Amino acid sequence: MNKYKYFENVKENAYFTEAPCQFCGATENCLDGAFFERDDIESICLNCFEKKQVEVDVPDYIRDRIKNDSEKKFGELRFTPPVPWIQNNDWPVCCDDYMVFIGEWEQDDFIKASENNDGKALLKKLLHKDLIELVENWDALWDDIGYETAAFVFKCPYCGKIVVICQDY
Ligand SMILES: [Zn+2]
Ligand SMILES: [Zn+2]
Repeated sequence: MNKYKYFENVKENAYFTEAPCQFCGATENCLDGAFFERDDIESICLNCFEKKQVEVDVPDYIRDRIKNDSEKKFGELRFTPPVPWIQNNDWPVCCDDYMVFIGEWEQDDFIKASENNDGKALLKKLLHKDLIELVENWDALWDDIGYETAAFVFKCPYCGKIVVICQDY
């Protein structure tokens, strides 16, 4: 299987569907078309996706987050399995490149990654800066993680920074 520059561990972190691939009929490793932001894709297997049969419709404002070499980086992002966004595509950028999606974290994942088993403190530290000002109640946000709220986690391959994007169902 392909390694994707912007997506770590596809088998674990991508959303798959039972529906057979609409290009080759394969029934295994079919990406769920719901996250491609297109009406014409229901299911595409990783093989067909790696052959670039279809690209994800990533909005232009995501391209505009990159200063240098944006066409190349944006082009590669469009051929990256989609993050299962609940709301809008909000792929974060660091060091002038897209951060690598490393998965959705539940409370346990935050606790394991934290010092002193304080997952909530880690969430506060890692939440994307644009989202921090929107938080009215940290306890409520923490309680919702894994339930009403998904925490998408990204890592910068250059500086190592980790950022969390939270979205609500
Ligand atoms: Zn296929
Ligand atoms: Zn960075």
